[in-house]
Amino acid sequence: MRLHEYQAKELFAAYGIPVQRGVVVDRAEDVLTLDLRYPVVLKAQVLVGGRGKAGGVQLAATPEEAREKAARILGMEIRGERVRRLLVVEAARIDREYYLAFVVDRSSRRLTLVASAEGGVDIEEVARRTPERIVKLAVDPALGFHPFHGRWVARRLGLSGPLLGQFAEISCSLYRLACERDAELAEINPLALCEGQWLAVDAKLVVDDNARPRQPDLPADEETTELERMAREYDLSYVELDGDIAIIGNGAGLVMSTLDMVAHFGGRPANFLDVGGGASTEAMRRALDIVLRKPGVRALFINIFGGITRCDDVARAIASAPPPVPTSIRLTGTNEEEGRRILEQAGIFAFTDPEEAARRAVALARGQ
Ligand code: GDP
Ligand code: MN
Repeated sequence: MRLHEYQAKELFAAYGIPVQRGVVVDRAEDVLTLDLRYPVVLKAQVLVGGRGKAGGVQLAATPEEAREKAARILGMEIRGERVRRLLVVEAARIDREYYLAFVVDRSSRRLTLVASAEGGVDIEEVARRTPERIVKLAVDPALGFHPFHGRWVARRLGLSGPLLGQFAEISCSLYRLACERDAELAEINPLALCEGQWLAVDAKLVVDDNARPRQPDLPADEETTELERMAREYDLSYVELDGDIAIIGNGAGLVMSTLDMVAHFGGRPANFLDVGGGASTEAMRRALDIVLRKPGVRALFINIFGGITRCDDVARAIASAPPPVPTSIRLTGTNEEEGRRILEQAGIFAFTDPEEAARRAVALARGQ
């Protein structure tokens, strides 16, 4: 899960990493009444990189200019993501931009420090063009990361004097944050030198999804919708798309091929839910409830290949609460006979062939 810049910066501040004073707004006129020193920088809060290049980071010298630019940025879409909020910060006078990050390196299985005196730009670009300008240090988890490590890195970046010591402190704080918050990536780009002071001008924090239960006080994941959260509570994997055919299947592979079939016949999935192996009648009922709550669903496609999951369990769930939208069902495998009998009694037909069922689902969504 990726945090917004303003959320990451709140954590930075709590760990003693210096950040600019700032306020989050969601309406352009709100910038007129902020208690901030001008000039300010307006920053689109979206979960994609390269905001600066896309026009999502802009300087404003006066409140009126800030309002105008805020309105413009709030109307933008950056790489497919609508801008809903802005972080407004007091502009820093930047003398030089550095790069500092801790990232989980899967090959060494360690948090690894990556730093460069070539900051503010795409670090992959620096790595490709001038790899010698990048300093790396894999952290031994038993030893941890200490000020002497930080000073060693700082010297390699050409730093000296008080800036060297402060850089070491910031890197220790960032390491502690990365560990304690289960970060896959904690990145400051740029970590800027501003009139003799370090400032984390940007902040990127990606928290390991598997660590969510250990991080209850992290902000809600905005990449997931209400229904996705609800499904997660029931241990069902559910993903939203923007078409009109709701899809339920069992097993990730089957669900993916179901999506492909629907697309192949010209349909557009509204969402998909994997009830998993061994889905009970109860799990199937919940699955139906979740996929059908999504607004704009015009047809439902249930594709079940019974293995551990039993067709009769699935059929019972469907027959006990017949879906309120036109439904195409494909049902084969374990206890298929019994499943069909239950559906037939409820006046519901089920296909054996997945393609026929997919074609039917697409037709139903078109009202045919
Ligand atoms: P990104 O484009 O999404 O990485 O957003 P950043 O927050 O990194 O901003 C992009 C660039 O804008 C930075 O690398 C800086 O060069 C510049 N920038 C951002 N904030 C300030 C600021 O307060 N003062 C100055 N002078 N430049 C800034
Ligand atoms: Mn940046």
